[in-house]
Amino acid sequence: MSPKTKLIVTLGPATETPEMIGKLIDGGVNVFRLNMSHAKHEWAAEMTKIVRRESDAREGHAAVLFDLTGPSIRTGDLEKAFELKEGDKVEFRREDAEPSIPFSTTVNYPGMMGDVTAGNILVVDNGALLMHIDRVADDRIICDVRTPGSMGSRRHINLPGVRLNLPALTKKDHKDLALAVECGADYIAGSFVRDAAHVRELREAMEALEGEAQIVAKIEDQEAVRNIDAIIQISDVIMVARGDLGIEVDFEDLPILQRRIVKRCHELGTRVIVATQLLESMITSPTPTRAEATDVMNAAYEEADCLMLSGETSVGRYPERCVEALVRIASRIERSGGHGFGQNVILRDERQKTARAAVTLADSLPDCRFVILTRRGVLANHIALMRPKTSPLYAVTPKETVCRQLSLTRGVTAFQMSFSSNIEETVERATEVLRAQGLVRAGTPIVIVSDILSDHFAANSILLHHA
Ligand code: PEP
Repeated sequence: MSPKTKLIVTLGPATETPEMIGKLIDGGVNVFRLNMSHAKHEWAAEMTKIVRRESDAREGHAAVLFDLTGPSIRTGDLEKAFELKEGDKVEFRREDAEPSIPFSTTVNYPGMMGDVTAGNILVVDNGALLMHIDRVADDRIICDVRTPGSMGSRRHINLPGVRLNLPALTKKDHKDLALAVECGADYIAGSFVRDAAHVRELREAMEALEGEAQIVAKIEDQEAVRNIDAIIQISDVIMVARGDLGIEVDFEDLPILQRRIVKRCHELGTRVIVATQLLESMITSPTPTRAEATDVMNAAYEEADCLMLSGETSVGRYPERCVEALVRIASRIERSGGHGFGQNVILRDERQKTARAAVTLADSLPDCRFVILTRRGVLANHIALMRPKTSPLYAVTPKETVCRQLSLTRGVTAFQMSFSSNIEETVERATEVLRAQGLVRAGTPIVIVSDILSDHFAANSILLHHA
C-alpha cells in the first residue's frame, strides 16, 4: 500500500521517457516537478503531456509542478574558470563597470552593491566557495576568498542574512509562468519568496493569465523565515527548500527550522513539502546512506505532506530505486506513528471545527473509512492537516483538477465523481465508488463530512453511514 506521505520527483534526462514516468507513477510518485532553471519550454510542455497521458492510462491523478527560477544572483560569463586560493581577492562588478583586478566578474543584480556591507559573507556555487566581503563601492565589491575552489560562469551567489531588494518575479519567470498556465500546471512554485507580498504578486500574475494552479512558496532564506507566518497564511503549500536554506542559515539551525516550519504549517493549516538532498548519495549509489534513511524518516515522522527529490531523479542513475526507498522508509515510520503536530491546528472557523469533530468521530470507530465530499478540496486539506489516524482519507470531488491538487495532501486518495442534488444519492454513489474498488465491505462504518450541500442539508455536516 502507498504511504500517507506523498512524493514529488523532479524530471530530467534520467526520467523523461513515457516508460519511466509510467514506472514512477506505478512506484508511488504523486507529483512531477519541472525545474524551470533548467527546462526548455518545448520540453516542459512535452513532459506535462506525458505525465497526463501516463496518469490517465492508470486512472490516476498525478500532478505537475512548475518550479520558477526566481530572482537568483549569478556570476557573469568567464572565458576560463577562476582557480581560487585562500586569501585571493575576487571582484564582483556591475555590468557597466571595468575590471580592476585579475579575478573580476560581473553580476546580474546591479542592486547588490547597495544591499551588502563590508563584513558580510558571500557564498558561490551552492556553498562550494566561501568569501568575506572586504570593500563595497557603488559599482563593485571586493571579496577575500576563505575556502579555495574553482569559480565558473553563471554560478549562483548567496548572501546569508542580507536583505535583498530583488523583485519577486523576473522576466524569465513571467515567460515561464505563461507556459505553466498554458500547460494547465497544477502547482506553481515561487523561488526566493521573501514575504507575503511576493506570493501575492505571483498569484495575481497567474490569475491575470487565468491560471488556476495552487501556489507553492519556497522558503530559502532568513528573511522568508522571519516572515514565515504571513507567507504560510497566503500560500497553498510551503516548501522547505533545504538546498538554498541550508546555505543561508548555519547548518546546525537547518533541522530546527525545518521542524518549526512544518509545525507552524500544521498550526496555520497549510500543506508542507520537505525538499532537497533527501537521498543525494543515490544520484550515483543504489542504496541510501544511514544518515539519508534517518533524514527521510524524520521528515515523514514530522508528518510533512510531501517529500521531494531533485537531482536523484532528474540526473541520477537510480530514479526508481530512490522512489522505492522513500516508499519503504515512509511506510515503515508511519506504522510507528508521527509527531502529532496535527493536534495543534488552530481552529479558526466552523468548518475547521466540524472537521475536528469528524476526525474525533472517525478515529474512535474501529475499521472506519473517512469520506470527504469536497468541491474545491479545501475541506479535504483541513481534515488531512489534522492528521487523522483513520486512513486513507477518501476525497470525492466532481473536478479532475481538484483531484490533482489533492495529490500532494498527506493521506488523501481522491476520486472524481459528480454530485447529485440529493444527499442520499451522493452518499450512495460515493459508497459505490469505494465498494467497486474493494475499499469497503458491507457494514463498514463510513464517516462522511461535507460542506457542499447547503441547499439540501445543513452546511458543515457529518454523517455516520454504513456501507
Ligand atoms: C532548494 O533550494 O532546496 C530548492 C528546491 O530549490 P532549487 O532546487 O530550485 O534551487
